[in-house]
Amino acid sequence: LACKNCFEKPVFKLISGESLCRSCFLRYFERKVRKTIRVFKLLGKEEKIIVGVSGGKDSLTVLNILHSIAEKQRKWDVIALAIDEGIKGYRNSCLRDARAFCKTKGIVLYVYSFKGEFGYSLDEMVKKLKMKPCSICGVLRRHLLNTKARELGATKLATGHNLDDEAQSIIMNQFRRNIETSARLGPVTGVIKEKKFIRRVKPLYLMTEKEVMAYAFLKGISGRFVECPYAYDSYRGEVRDMLNEFEAKHSGTKNSIVQSFLEILPLLKKHYKTRAKLKFCRICGEPCSGEICKACEILGRLGATGINKGKKNSKGKTKKGR
Ligand code: SF4
Ligand SMILES: [Zn+2]
Ligand SMILES: [Zn+2]
Repeated sequence: LACKNCFEKPVFKLISGESLCRSCFLRYFERKVRKTIRVFKLLGKEEKIIVGVSGGKDSLTVLNILHSIAEKQRKWDVIALAIDEGIKGYRNSCLRDARAFCKTKGIVLYVYSFKGEFGYSLDEMVKKLKMKPCSICGVLRRHLLNTKARELGATKLATGHNLDDEAQSIIMNQFRRNIETSARLGPVTGVIKEKKFIRRVKPLYLMTEKEVMAYAFLKGISGRFVECPYAYDSYRGEVRDMLNEFEAKHSGTKNSIVQSFLEILPLLKKHYKTRAKLKFCRICGEPCSGEICKACEILGRLGATGINKGKKNSKGKTKKGR
């Protein structure tokens, strides 16, 4: 079997069953990402894009693509932002990859840590609070990403979420009857436009995990496979395994889940938009649904100093490539 376009040696088989060679696959991938950006209006002509990087292959892939588009058209400013939660034996190695990658590409990378911003690392918080690590981690990371992206003047926050992640989230919300949570999914997240929320976009929305892995591999993007030691919240893992098994038998399942979801998403957003009442946290001023945002609630329990809301020039470690 040869590449469907040029008869070269194939390296990747698409969902459709057709195979592509190295250069045709890279072109296919980049084209599809650009099309996703265009069709879902993820990014405009002029943007200051902050890419949230974890050091994994997904986020470095999206950073790589946006950076190379920006180099050509010069109307986008692309910088990287990483959060160091403070997870021993895990985040350090990922951050090393992110630093190395940004350095070779000449991309500015900002790193902010839980310890530096909140006074405690995630490891320390987990010991103090009787909460699931991921519940603490997710809330505080989202909070930091949003506030820092805003401080840095971002117009958009791009993340490395792929089709597999989205399909899992859709199914998880369905199985747990969390449809309101699903209303916040999609290639552009959120239901309400609010200038304090930096809109999050997912340029890899239609790319499968396998495709991202292949792209990263072919491009020499290292991104590790270290699992977070707290990643034992196995519900997502179970859903992932189930979907993988199903996909193996019925090719295209994940894509169908996401495409079907996209058909009902506008209705979901409309429905929950009229119900959602946006308030602002009494402590930190961030948009939230209650009186106090979840981040401040957690920090309150910790007896932490709270979020440095007034601190203008919060100094994260800034690393400038080249
Ligand atoms: S698995 Fe949980 S604790 Fe680990 S990085 Fe992800 S959200 Fe944080
Ligand atoms: Zn080819
Ligand atoms: Zn708050």
